[in-house]
Amino acid sequence: MDKDTSQKANRRPPGIYLDNQATTPTDPRVVEAMLPFFTERFGNPHSSAHAFGWDAEEAVEQARGQLASLIGAEPREVIFTSGATESNNLAIKGAARFHRQRRPHVVTLASEHKCVLESVRALEREGHRVDILPVLPDGLVDLDVLADAVTEETAVVSVMAVNNEIGVIQPLAEIAAICREKGAYFHCDAAQAVGKIALDVVALGIDLMSISGHKFYGPKGIGALYVRRRPRVRLEPLIDGGGQERGLRSGTLATPLCVGFGRAAEIAGAEMAGETARISALKTRLLEGITGRLSGVALNGHAERRVAGNLNLAFEGIDAEALMRALPRLAVSSGSACTSAAVEPSYVLQALGLPDERARGSIRLAVGRFNTEAEIDQAVEELAAAVAKLRAEGSAAAE
Ligand SMILES: *Cc1c(COP(=O)(O)O)cnc(C)c1O
Repeated sequence: MDKDTSQKANRRPPGIYLDNQATTPTDPRVVEAMLPFFTERFGNPHSSAHAFGWDAEEAVEQARGQLASLIGAEPREVIFTSGATESNNLAIKGAARFHRQRRPHVVTLASEHKCVLESVRALEREGHRVDILPVLPDGLVDLDVLADAVTEETAVVSVMAVNNEIGVIQPLAEIAAICREKGAYFHCDAAQAVGKIALDVVALGIDLMSISGHKFYGPKGIGALYVRRRPRVRLEPLIDGGGQERGLRSGTLATPLCVGFGRAAEIAGAEMAGETARISALKTRLLEGITGRLSGVALNGHAERRVAGNLNLAFEGIDAEALMRALPRLAVSSGSACTSAAVEPSYVLQALGLPDERARGSIRLAVGRFNTEAEIDQAVEELAAAVAKLRAEGSAAAE
């Protein structure tokens, strides 16, 4: 290989990574667990006639067990997919299409991930009736509005566990109770929650739950859908073929990805309590550092009911896109969707009813497993300096 190319390919991009809700680095322990399955242990896990197949199958089943035990499920209730996007599509479209005769109605929230909202929109084009409910100003579901919307015609209610932009944790058990009363399935997009907060699908009453490997230090390109067996949840598959994964997701499983995903789940289960405390302390250091140096900073989303690593902050008088351009060494996110030239403010922040100006002045900072105190302190300095400079320029321009 060309020497320059390989060196560039192996170099970590410069800067401080505080975008752990977009993706996380794969934990080196996860990579180590995966490696043998690319080379020596390469069998097709669905080959039942020889030891190569059995070996791979055993590894996949161990991973399924690791995932199941993290969420309180049985191993056979875990279906491997390519990620939470596919899991959300399978859960929502699969449930709605299977029950379209008697239950043509689907319910979700305006603050859900795009792949949930677009799945629901696709169902609407197929003739399903859909309700996309507003959320409260703190980002939480309005349980009274939800209870009014769910009926005996509702096939599935999709509400996420933890929001990817503002980090708020929805009241899952209360949502499940509303669904159960009407016989609707409760689907939960838990891509931002699994591995971060304790989740037990049985205790919470969840029927379908989406998981993503790369959001908790596993590899990209793998996820899972929890599908309750008792009482049985019925889905129409999206992909037809050899009938793998209980007929719900045909295709050869990616053994190395399954193994890494399982190892990530095992690590998360073992280390969650300590890690949450550490990340929470770093998050508090970040917030106090910023608010100690700057005025006009507000937190978006419920102040307490939120995941440890997330901060979504509005900076008065600041345009988030300009702020991020001024901080090329700080990897953060504005949640804005850049469609061609127009930068739209985050639809999640708009769903909270925030004024456009506040939404446009907000950024998400997401602390993760590999961040250090020194990084947090440096991020505080750079952010505070950039905001002060932009504000000074803004008031100079206004004079
Ligand atoms: C990242 C994310 C997804 C998509 O997950 P992929 O595995 O990347 O497809 C879905 N929902 C939420 C809330 C997410 O944060």
